[in-house]
Amino acid sequence: QKQSSNNSDVIFRSKLPDIYIPNHLPLHEYIFQSISEFASKPCLINGPTGRVYTYSDVHVASRRIAAGFQKLGVERNDVVMILLSNCPEFVLSFLAASFRGATATAANPFFTPAEIAKQAKASNSKLIVTESRYVDKIKDLQNDGVVVVCTDEEPSPIPEGCLRFTELTQSTEEIDAVEISSDDVVALPYSSGTTGLPKGVMLTHKGLVTSVAQQVDGENPNLYFHSDDVILCVLPMFHIYALNSIMLCGLRVGASILIMPKFEINLLLELMQRCKVTVAPMVPPVVLAIAKSQETEKYDLSSVRVMKSGAAPLGKEIEDAVSAKFPNAKLGQGYGMTEAGPVLAMSLGFAKEPFPVKSGACGTVVRNAEMKIIDPDTGDSLSKNKPGEICIRGQQIMKGYLNNPEATAETIDKEGWLHTGDIGLIDDDDELFIVDRLKEIIKYKGFQVAPAELEALLIGHQDITDVAVVGMKEEAAGEVPVAFVVKSKDSELSEDEVKQFVAKQVVFYKRINKVFFTESIPKAPSGKILRKDLRAKLANGLVN
Ligand code: AMP
Repeated sequence: QKQSSNNSDVIFRSKLPDIYIPNHLPLHEYIFQSISEFASKPCLINGPTGRVYTYSDVHVASRRIAAGFQKLGVERNDVVMILLSNCPEFVLSFLAASFRGATATAANPFFTPAEIAKQAKASNSKLIVTESRYVDKIKDLQNDGVVVVCTDEEPSPIPEGCLRFTELTQSTEEIDAVEISSDDVVALPYSSGTTGLPKGVMLTHKGLVTSVAQQVDGENPNLYFHSDDVILCVLPMFHIYALNSIMLCGLRVGASILIMPKFEINLLLELMQRCKVTVAPMVPPVVLAIAKSQETEKYDLSSVRVMKSGAAPLGKEIEDAVSAKFPNAKLGQGYGMTEAGPVLAMSLGFAKEPFPVKSGACGTVVRNAEMKIIDPDTGDSLSKNKPGEICIRGQQIMKGYLNNPEATAETIDKEGWLHTGDIGLIDDDDELFIVDRLKEIIKYKGFQVAPAELEALLIGHQDITDVAVVGMKEEAAGEVPVAFVVKSKDSELSEDEVKQFVAKQVVFYKRINKVFFTESIPKAPSGKILRKDLRAKLANGLVN
């Protein structure tokens, strides 16, 4: 990582003025600061069941669950894992962890047992909130003393040795007064960042309060959300984008949040019509599916005023196609990275006095933050219209990677700049365009796939002597992981065997899509895989 440190740095800031951000408050206090105005308003709507939780319900239940966590031995800074698809209990558990001064780490319930165990152990999770159907995957952890709480509705039986979530919600105990520091870690998502294996990203109370405020507070209350909004939450909350930019931002402004556990187009459109959804945050594959669907004609989607896309690049054709289906909606992109808290830039097309939304742009850097674009080779900062690595600085970024000071120092430099590994440029109107990715991460429908993780699995195969995994462009997913494999002498290893070997060990989106057998893997003298060369080979059709 190169860094420049002179006063001639070209620094970009938001087009909106900075605001006061009360980031001395614990996250839950900040989120519920205006609850007296919204107490009886619908807060969470469970899409499939239709059950509504008011703001007051959510506030009371999350405090009770916090008291339940306390009774189960969860102390300040202990880690609670949330292993759930989107549901109200996810939100309640997250807020409860905050009330208790604990840390929540969310994992994808579709992970394999090994993937869950890795995160649970690395984060030192003391308790897991999940559903009965996933308990088999975490049996070993349970045997090691991790407390398991199941959210299933009564009266269905829950697996042996597990507790019932309703026991926590019925808790009447008070939470002990905990001294929460704004620097305590409240959320611990996992991300591989610019290189290597997934790592725990320490997001503090201060960081998340700052990030939410940057998006929805201040002089421009109509920026993105207001209290009359009904916000769709179909993106997975175990990813920080949905947790922060939908859930926390929605709660802060007093909006109603429609929670959907998975993307089913007919149910989604039906609920958008019935609940009069006004804001629909999406990722490119969801936008693409809606753009291509014939079903949209059957529904009245005129309530939607804002569509947001983030987490991966969105093509202009899809932008145009989907915009045509939502007569009253503006579509704008946001740009996030888990380590950045996650929002770095957002479209200002929804502000009270909107700035024009530019096709292909990711908006402008958020308020109360600084952005610079640097030459990746020299570290020198670049002026407008010149592409380089995007760097961000501000109180919203992560505190660091859990137990990994080396990786932290490689990502956040001494002056506090977080290096994203993304290549972008800022145009004459202060709009950010992402043009390339320097880092190795693969994004399958917005989900992270870390090549290093798949390479570590593959190299464990007795017939594989060397391997490299890179992303290959694909329409529906954006990118899919493919492997270049050097097999041992005389091995008859087939493409299918390689694919199966990985598929057994990983969640669906990390599966190897294609295998290219090769004589050697191109490497720099340092031993680093030259992924750029492999990606170029794919792009130029030089593989078969
Ligand atoms: P994650 O930490 O999983 O949110 O992934 C962050 C990465 O996703 C970024 O560093 C970018 O490479 C990519 N990304 C996020 N938003 C966008 C966007 N609007 N356009 C292009 N790439 C994006």
